[in-house]
Amino acid sequence: MLLERTRAILADLIAYPTVSSDSNVDLIAYAADLLKQSGAEVRISQDPDGGKANLFASLGPGGDGGIVLSGHSDVVPVEGQDWTSDPFALREADGLLYGRGTCDMKGFIAACLAMAPVFAACNLARPVHFAFTYDEEVGCLGARALIADLAEAGIRPSAVIIGEPTEMRIIEGHKGCFEYTTHFTGSGGHASIPDAGVNAIEYAVSYITRLLELREPLKARSPEGSPFTPPWTTLQAGAIVGGPARNVVASDCRVDWEMRPVTSADADFVKAEMRAFVDQVLRPAMHAVDPATDIVTHVIGEVEGLEPASHSEALAIARELTGRNEADVVSFGTEAGLFQKAGISAVVCGPGSIAQAHKPDEFISLDQLDQCLGMLERLADKVSR
Ligand SMILES: [Zn+2]
Repeated sequence: MLLERTRAILADLIAYPTVSSDSNVDLIAYAADLLKQSGAEVRISQDPDGGKANLFASLGPGGDGGIVLSGHSDVVPVEGQDWTSDPFALREADGLLYGRGTCDMKGFIAACLAMAPVFAACNLARPVHFAFTYDEEVGCLGARALIADLAEAGIRPSAVIIGEPTEMRIIEGHKGCFEYTTHFTGSGGHASIPDAGVNAIEYAVSYITRLLELREPLKARSPEGSPFTPPWTTLQAGAIVGGPARNVVASDCRVDWEMRPVTSADADFVKAEMRAFVDQVLRPAMHAVDPATDIVTHVIGEVEGLEPASHSEALAIARELTGRNEADVVSFGTEAGLFQKAGISAVVCGPGSIAQAHKPDEFISLDQLDQCLGMLERLADKVSR
């Protein structure tokens, strides 16, 4: 019954082409309707343009200490991918449900929506919340807004399960992914008198050199028992573009770089070191020649990591609900770190495999959905009086 309902809801969800670049408001309105039918209190918050929306819904008693079931509503594009059938029409074959977003992560959302009437029929001792966000695939933008909105409204859940596809394994940690572009604006001139100009490429090289020097202290900062591979925060420059020609002092250079912090303190450390190096060394040297020069760093994305926590309520709940004791780490980022940073204990556990995410002919198995429903039914038992 529940599985049938989940499949039907998933078919509806897949039909909304909620690619991150497009609107998700119709899907959110659909989910809000279903949740309201179960008596949930629904909050919808729109982004400033009104094209995107987050949904936060609550069942059970008001107050603090609720458990959040969280999923992102956006999906990655299908352009350039070779699909067997329409990616936005659910197709079933041999126990597998195909469609864009089936595993990442509308399958989990469908299971949550199918369970809403079950939670509503329970005498809940603590709140059960549903959080469906926008723009996860492009930097977790929706979750940031949603978490800020909750803080403003004084809603304080204590644990969150993020249903990203883990084949129902419990994930207690992932590194963060912080991406930057640093622009160097120099002062051009003839190559025969380099001292009269400010060579943007040379300053970019100094910048990268300083960045790479931080690798050693980052290794030394590696947390005891870090489960990650490698166990420390990594960083690297992935692109450098600058200069017009061999015989010209380059007036522009751009460096794309990233770090994958194992702790948010590491991220703060790198940012502070690089800021100090620019402010105290590079920029003064540039300005001594030409005050119109500058170095500006743009944040492309700062997806917080999920730090494994030994006393995590979310982890304890996930263990109890899945009957699994082991917890793992993964190499992909999720919204979990943002919740954790806001003081809400977080774990990642959901149906489907990351191996199918973002691929043509993305699918989720009915068996995985069934296992997810089992977890949610045990949650209903657990939070009932
Ligand atoms: Zn995802």
